[in-house]
Amino acid sequence: MSNNLRCCEELEKLTNEQANCSCGNFEVTDQSEIENPKNSKKEINSSLLKQLEEKSEKLGIMSIAYAKIPANVLESNNFLKYSNAIVLTYPIGMDIIDKVPGEETQKFNDKLYEKFGKITYELSDYLRKEGIGTQVAHPKEDLTDLSKLGQVADLGYIGKNGLLISSELGPRLKISAILTTIENLPFSEKNSHEWIKNYCKRCGKCIKGCPQDALIENEDELAKAYLIDEKCIGCSQGCTYCIESCPFFENGYDWVKEKQMKLEAKLKEKGKS
Ligand code: SF4
Ligand code: SF4
Repeated sequence: MSNNLRCCEELEKLTNEQANCSCGNFEVTDQSEIENPKNSKKEINSSLLKQLEEKSEKLGIMSIAYAKIPANVLESNNFLKYSNAIVLTYPIGMDIIDKVPGEETQKFNDKLYEKFGKITYELSDYLRKEGIGTQVAHPKEDLTDLSKLGQVADLGYIGKNGLLISSELGPRLKISAILTTIENLPFSEKNSHEWIKNYCKRCGKCIKGCPQDALIENEDELAKAYLIDEKCIGCSQGCTYCIESCPFFENGYDWVKEKQMKLEAKLKEKGKS
């Protein structure tokens, strides 16, 4: 059956979730080497923030940004200790992208999660040493919706494939976060990648590229797709086809943006925007 022709009942039975590719049900043991300080600081000075950013870069972090966790997310999740987040992204290597899904590829994927998780803990310990309270949201753990956090931090926008699409590497990235007591972080108030949703509405290449039919068109909200968790082999076999088929991966962010801006200008001219 074609993805687009599934009936509402079947969809409801399969999933109620919007696409949200994360490796969810995975328990991570706390790898902190330093305990949370008793009277945690609530502020960070600019020199320490700069040092944190420099250290992140040295450790291979692709980008770092800051988000206030939305109130409704905090209310619905008792596991979240703090309301401010340092959001980190890390590239998915081409060694994973170039391999076909399977046991071997999954090993590479697990290694990547392990490495990125370790870096996140190292940065968290770095802050704890300075008297700052932290809680790590490991990239493979389902502590909170990391893609959404990345979007709030203006690191990118969540595409139809459920992945955060960044200007640096499109959807070829993993996300982690350090929740913290610091209240004076340079939180983003921008929403510079929102235009992506209009591109996704017309594209849908990730749906066509999925070998498992795990992504299903959402007729009510064209910029998003449904994800059937049981069918997706992203977290069990390291599948990355929904990344590879995405024009943001293939052609780059700037190319897609230019194309979309031209289209929007044309539609505006014709009074159809
Ligand atoms: S099966 Fe592969 S292509 Fe399909 S949604 Fe999962 S990770 Fe993406
Ligand atoms: S493949 Fe197309 S629809 Fe899917 S996330 Fe990328 S741009 Fe959006």
